Amino acid sequence: MSKIATAFGINKALDQLGLSEINEGTSTGLNHFGSGEIISSYSPVDGALIGKVKTTSPADYEKVMETATSSFKEWRLMPAPQRGEIVRQFGEKLRELKEPLGKLVSYEMGKSYQEGLGEVQEMIDICDFAVGLSRQLHGLTMHSERPGHRMYEQYHPLGIVGIISAFNFPVAVWAWNTALAWVCGDVCVWKPSEKTPLCGVACQNIIAQVIKENNLPEGISCLINGDYKVGELMTNDSRVPLVSATGSIRMGKIVAQAVAARLGKSLLELGGNNAIIVTPDADIKMTVIGAVFGAVGTAGQRCTSTRRLIIHDSIYDKVKDAVVAAYKQLRIGNPLDENNHVGPLIDTDAVSMYKKALEKVVAEGGKIIVEGGVLAGEGYESGCYVKPAIAEAQNDFEIVQHETFAPVLYLLKYSGDVENAIAIQNGVVQGLSSAIMTNNLREAERFLSAWGSDCGIANVNIGTSGAEIGGAFGGEKETGGGRESGSDAWKVYMRRQTNTINYTTELPLAQGIKFDL
Ligand code: NAD
Repeated sequence: MSKIATAFGINKALDQLGLSEINEGTSTGLNHFGSGEIISSYSPVDGALIGKVKTTSPADYEKVMETATSSFKEWRLMPAPQRGEIVRQFGEKLRELKEPLGKLVSYEMGKSYQEGLGEVQEMIDICDFAVGLSRQLHGLTMHSERPGHRMYEQYHPLGIVGIISAFNFPVAVWAWNTALAWVCGDVCVWKPSEKTPLCGVACQNIIAQVIKENNLPEGISCLINGDYKVGELMTNDSRVPLVSATGSIRMGKIVAQAVAARLGKSLLELGGNNAIIVTPDADIKMTVIGAVFGAVGTAGQRCTSTRRLIIHDSIYDKVKDAVVAAYKQLRIGNPLDENNHVGPLIDTDAVSMYKKALEKVVAEGGKIIVEGGVLAGEGYESGCYVKPAIAEAQNDFEIVQHETFAPVLYLLKYSGDVENAIAIQNGVVQGLSSAIMTNNLREAERFLSAWGSDCGIANVNIGTSGAEIGGAFGGEKETGGGRESGSDAWKVYMRRQTNTINYTTELPLAQGIKFDL
């Protein structure tokens, strides 16, 4: 164990999460049949090896699918409120293990400990939401056009839900999907990111315990490990009616085509290119907090991170100076230490992309106003720590159009009406999160109107980053159109059936059609 791991109690956390054997590459969550190659998980915090996990071979995958298929036959028959009770118990276990799991998220992914705890809190919140939902899986009733007939619709479980998740939310995204899918009567097979495999095993250990304590079939929750090749086993598998995939647009396009080729359903949660519009009526202090947290929080590795700040020319210099001054206060370092604001990027590949983005913005004619750079020396041995950077740019630069998963913020200027800012904000292929900072009611309502923001999330006087589980989460355009978490997102995990019942002795046909025998 490294010095940091010892100082911040990572050993104890691994123990509490049932991962103490993980160094041997032998620890498996229940129903995690690993006989494939070994993935070693290194912490971006200090570069130390945390543990090794065996990947899922095609033969292992077959066993997982058999277990999931047979478990579904039992699970779908359990009344939904009883399934909700299992999710409630899962939420309770998460409450007990919030600290160790939050710590593991921070150490394996690199986000701050506070954000790690926040991620586990989101898991707990979605469990609470799902428990209530388990008594509310409702359909509509309609009046039939035929006398003596009743018509209504109901929702049934789909079967096996495949979940592919990204490294940056290594535990919460799984829970957003599973908590809902389970109360809906589905069983889940999860492929976490190969960059955060231990978070996957930790979560599987927690739910496996709940399943065992309730004498339920283990295949309600399955874990498969590995890279895109393991993901492809699921996307090409017609036993998986729904694939929920979170990650890059590049990945989403491949997954969507594979699933569509077999006419399956996909729920896509892909990249963003999120902007905050700052109008002349903005509260500058709030703007600075929202923009800086949005751009540098999680080291710019949130799908909702603020990438573009679109500022009215009349207040451009004032906002620019305030944001630049705030960047000077940022402390970069070990994310487990609560004194730091910015932790590391996930790996050195991410560092290369960050460096390339800064070179490219200059090559395209942009101007760096807060210098970036890779940090070296004591505390930065992993090579993953970078300085948050700011560049003045134009919206049509190729690099500005692209999501760089790092703390690079572009300042863009607009003049005239708020419509001009909205056009810039919408002028990218992604459509995840957007925000306007203004105290002007007309501007705010225009931003939220049908000709306003084209994103799945549009906020007023709040930044782009972060969301509550109560609302449906997702984005438009190349962000993929999926919605998960709150509101009526549960419907995607179920199949809808329309039922018509005739309680007469006649058989009238619809639309008045006569068929006399
Ligand atoms: P990634 O696309 O590299 O990988 C995501 C997951 O997809 C991993 O588990 C990976 O193994 C798997 N995968 C990759 N190619 C695949 C294929 N061909 N078939 C099946 N599975 C495949 O993304 P990442 O680097 O882990 O995460 C960062 C990206 O995720 C960013 O673009 C970010 O915006 C996005 N993201 C979006 C949301 C959202 O809700 N919209 C949330 C989190 C992250």
